[in-house]
Amino acid sequence: MDAYARDGNPRKFDLGVGVYKDAQGLTPVLAAVKRAEQQLLEQQLSKTYVNGHGDVAYGQLLTRMVLGDDSPLLAASRAGATQTPGGTGALRLSGEFLRHCLPGRGIWLSDPTWPIHESIYAGVGLEVHHYPYVGADNRLNVEAMLACLEQIPQGDVILLHACCHNPTGFDLSHADWRRVLDVVKRRELLPLIDFAYQGFGDGLEEDAWAVRLFADQLPEMLVTSSCSKNFGLYRERTGALIVCASTESKLLDVRSQLASLARNLWSTPPDHGAAVVAQILGTPELKSLWADEVQTMRSRIAQLRRGLVEALERYGLDHRFGYIAEQRGMFSYTGLTPSEVQQLRERYSVYMVSNGRANVAGIDASRLDELAAAIAGVCR
Ligand code: PMP
Repeated sequence: MDAYARDGNPRKFDLGVGVYKDAQGLTPVLAAVKRAEQQLLEQQLSKTYVNGHGDVAYGQLLTRMVLGDDSPLLAASRAGATQTPGGTGALRLSGEFLRHCLPGRGIWLSDPTWPIHESIYAGVGLEVHHYPYVGADNRLNVEAMLACLEQIPQGDVILLHACCHNPTGFDLSHADWRRVLDVVKRRELLPLIDFAYQGFGDGLEEDAWAVRLFADQLPEMLVTSSCSKNFGLYRERTGALIVCASTESKLLDVRSQLASLARNLWSTPPDHGAAVVAQILGTPELKSLWADEVQTMRSRIAQLRRGLVEALERYGLDHRFGYIAEQRGMFSYTGLTPSEVQQLRERYSVYMVSNGRANVAGIDASRLDELAAAIAGVCR
């Protein structure tokens, strides 16, 4: 980010940033959020603390959004949300819970994964292990992943990305998810599903497919949900740790532990973002406006992916980079080597993470050919 800021080239590209950008290169406040904020400003009567588990309406509405309106877990009171400062707060709270309440269990992360997963779970003192995910050929390697899962000690925790895998953009197919579920069941693993991009892959409902499959088929699991991307609420720190338990009374036990752990971390969660989300999800016209806005963001990302591959095709590079159109979400493991990334930066002012991760949502659609030309310049 510093190197990008220092670069005086007016034609520079920022593909390193971790936020969605629109066609103007901006990350604006969504219209549904603005309207909800106006309503809240008029309605809010107090700034007293919110409950330890957060805004009750927010928790219920978000749990429905994640698990689906007709989830049997809701009917059986087997699922509940604890509001957290962003998805990161939910991950941290899950780490504290595992460390204190399920001691001795290791956690397994995909290789590669979002680096903050590594630091959070190592930081709370869990034993962090890895399962293979993307191979040296920059392709999803499900066979290697499953072979590793078969070896994981019974009861260990496995962190899965619900959709839009960060950093690679490679998601499991429905068939792959079913195979993972089969191993999870047999080895009695505890899934922890990180759901930071609901709506950015194939749709708000479609992206929740695997979470709902696991919730329906397993006695218990944890889900970390973030409203940073899909509601554009990044700085408002809006997320939740959703617990799915085998019975209502087990859920209550877990929730009482979570409330006490959260008390030591942030006491009570910040209010504003969650109040906005509750207002949107609880008001039909705001909800439908918001769903349209999520669809606009999703379509733009999908178009940029296709557009980039078409532009690369003109330079004869579609064979090498064709998978960019199949990946999901904002990020793409481009498969560019660290030396190619460095040359892109030095010769063309194209900035991305040195492991080749590019934020596709950061590309200006009118400059796809220019970007493809730069990539061709370092790949020949
Ligand atoms: N998980 C993943 C995989 C992410 O990419 C992110 C955001 N970059 C998060 C969780 C957490 O997001 P936040 O704390 O901003 O809600």
